[in-house]
Amino acid sequence: MPSIKDIMQTMEYGPAPESNAEVKAWLSARSAGIGHFIDGRFTSAAGDLIDVVNPATEDVIGRVAKGTADDVDAAVAAARAAFHEWSALPGHERAKYLYAIARHIQKRERFFSVLETMDNGKTIRETRDIDIPLVARHFYHHAGWAELVADAFPQHRPVGVCGQIIPWNFPLLMLAWKVAPALAAGNTVVLKPADLTPMTAHAFAELLVEIGLPAGVVNIVQGDGETGAAIAGHSDVDKVAFTGSTDVGRLIRRQIAGSGKKLSLELGGKSPFIVLEDADLDAAVEGVVDAIWFNQGEVCCAGSRLLVQEGVAPRFFDKLKARMATLRVGDPLDKTMDMGAVVSMKQLSRIKTLLKAGEEEGATLNLAPVALPEKGAFCTPGFFTDSHPANSVSQVEIFGPVAATLTFRTLDEAVALANDTRYGLAASLWSENVNRAIELAARVKAGVVWINATNMFDAAAPFGGYRESGYGREGGRAGMLEYLTTGWDKQGKVRAASAAPIDVAPATGKADRTAIDVTAKLYIGGKQARPDGGQSYTVYGKAGAAIGEAGLANRKDVRNAVEAANKATAWGGVTAHNRAQVLYFLAENLDQRRDEFVAALAATGTVAKPEEEFEAAIRRCFWYAAQADKFDGAVTATKSQHVTMTVNEPFGTIGVVAPDEAPLLALLSLILPAITMGNRVVAVASQAHPLIAARLYQVFETSDIPAGVVNLLTGERDVLAKTLAEHDDVAALWYCGSEDGSRMVEVASAGNLKPVWSDLGRLRDWLDPRFGQGQEYLRRASQVKTIWLPYGE
Ligand code: NAD
Repeated sequence: MPSIKDIMQTMEYGPAPESNAEVKAWLSARSAGIGHFIDGRFTSAAGDLIDVVNPATEDVIGRVAKGTADDVDAAVAAARAAFHEWSALPGHERAKYLYAIARHIQKRERFFSVLETMDNGKTIRETRDIDIPLVARHFYHHAGWAELVADAFPQHRPVGVCGQIIPWNFPLLMLAWKVAPALAAGNTVVLKPADLTPMTAHAFAELLVEIGLPAGVVNIVQGDGETGAAIAGHSDVDKVAFTGSTDVGRLIRRQIAGSGKKLSLELGGKSPFIVLEDADLDAAVEGVVDAIWFNQGEVCCAGSRLLVQEGVAPRFFDKLKARMATLRVGDPLDKTMDMGAVVSMKQLSRIKTLLKAGEEEGATLNLAPVALPEKGAFCTPGFFTDSHPANSVSQVEIFGPVAATLTFRTLDEAVALANDTRYGLAASLWSENVNRAIELAARVKAGVVWINATNMFDAAAPFGGYRESGYGREGGRAGMLEYLTTGWDKQGKVRAASAAPIDVAPATGKADRTAIDVTAKLYIGGKQARPDGGQSYTVYGKAGAAIGEAGLANRKDVRNAVEAANKATAWGGVTAHNRAQVLYFLAENLDQRRDEFVAALAATGTVAKPEEEFEAAIRRCFWYAAQADKFDGAVTATKSQHVTMTVNEPFGTIGVVAPDEAPLLALLSLILPAITMGNRVVAVASQAHPLIAARLYQVFETSDIPAGVVNLLTGERDVLAKTLAEHDDVAALWYCGSEDGSRMVEVASAGNLKPVWSDLGRLRDWLDPRFGQGQEYLRRASQVKTIWLPYGE
């Protein structure tokens, strides 16, 4: 035992272990094994049990069942049975349950903190001060949404039974992020924790019994990836919410393609942490501690790529080394530790393999001079220098306490490096110059941006990614919408089997043409373009007469159109007011050609009321022009001395695939919301009635729509849709076609994980504004970026 004099001399921390006696007793009472929580009851742990290991001690602290397909069936059946009553409860009644959960979490805060630390290896400081308080905060916030849901989201209803699959890095917090909004909205839940960290979910189920939550509302099935796949693929699950790796996110996307299940994915990241030369370097160094060493770096939004402006880089790295030397790594139950153990020995060896690869590629690994405990999955914190953008450590998620570093000279270079990743989860920006910081915040492609801060979370602040970090948001209003539906987009009758077949041979029947032979071309980059393959197909109108030819676009044309769209980036920076003006001008120009369009619609032989369709198209232009500067973001109440902004940003290039019904109105109804929000569009016009598109581009040409903002293709719908779905530079896709086509595009979209809005081949009444236009379109045309801006000293 050191004397006070010794302590004063060394200023070393003494040990300050948190007692785990109660948790050990709880674990030992469950040593026979932990089963599932289904329909309000705990099943006994049967079959092959999975050992649960405390990674800090390597002790087996329990055993957990591996859910089978039968277990999943039983859990889904219980959730389905409970759904009717739970969803019919007044919001206020559901709010009372959520409030009770929040209160009970708070009352058991210490218990949950210790249990989480023993299960996961993360420090007690973190579970006690961050994870568990945030869990309580999440349930409080969503008790509020339960109370308000009917007023705040009119015309919405809960989705149904939600299958939720979570990872091991924030076990109870991820559970809260999933369960709280689902219950607030009136859904019921089947949740699977990660098999490495099942304990707090089990204790949470016990807490649900304690507060008297009706049986079946929350079901917890323990198990591994196979169990997860059984939940995601279950035919009676209406929504899948997944947090985990991008690879598994992709598998799930493919697995449930065409099922109509709602899907949200919170996946991996390789988030930039950008230090400008005018940053408060000491504050930024503390930021790194929270960015990459917090939670042993096992954080999806970890600042794992440190981008430092060249002038300050050597000084910054020196400061970082000095700070790193003071980090304390060891027994996570010791309250003085900065870092505990990583989640498992397997994860430790995965991290080590990646670090070795980094060194082999020439990067220098700077490690903290800390002594690690002899036993346990402890990892030395550090950072790479001399790493390059293409190095594996700069691109691959290490999911451990080591960052890659890169330097840059200019703001443009910083932006280019920051966005040089397939992910887009978060970014942390350090500058004392608010103009530069906000400019960077706007230009970085990430769902969450922290200015002079990092890894801040709040239940009111939407969290989620761009690009391969997934889609959907958790938290706040945007998070609630993931658990609600209006359902209108998939309710119509099934569309007739297929669009008219493509006929490239000379038409032999009687033609019904205007005097001058017109061949509709494609419209790419603001110019009319002949199809790459040099082919046209015959378009048939009334009574099957040939009324013209349309260009038969191929994959190359799609690629050209996407390229043109990707060049038109300036559109995203045009003010909302100016975008509105363009839309009004479009309406004006369209109206001048009313007779011509009405005649062209009539000539299709399938439009019952051409005048009505045309009039609706004009109104639609006005409606979106009106929305351009009104569908905006918000300032969200999170922490004190923070302005937390949610901004609706465009995706970039959106692919839209129009159906055959309402050939003018449907096409415009898909294009307008996308460009209203600042996206560029590659649109595939109705396969059967493509001549309208040719008339439309003549109007676009005269309406001040910059070249490349709208590109129009005609041809075989599903061939073009597939190319759009597979294209890495198409950021989102809306598909109106067939049931098979919906499945096809959802599978094909898994490559870059673009969000797909498909209609399962259901007819839509485009004339009815409840279906043909609305905020749902604008929401689908934008992604929420949450920007945290703390203020004060
Ligand atoms: P993982 O994808 O292997 O596992 C996550 C969960 O999915 C686990 O419960 C696992 O059992 C289950 N699972 C595995 N295969 C499955 C399948 N085929 N079908 C259904 N479920 C399946 O990921 P992990 O290694 O446990 O977690 C780390 C990853 O999670 C990291 O990549 C990290 O970035 C990511 N993550 C993301 C967020 C976020 O919000 N974006 C948050 C935490 C973690």
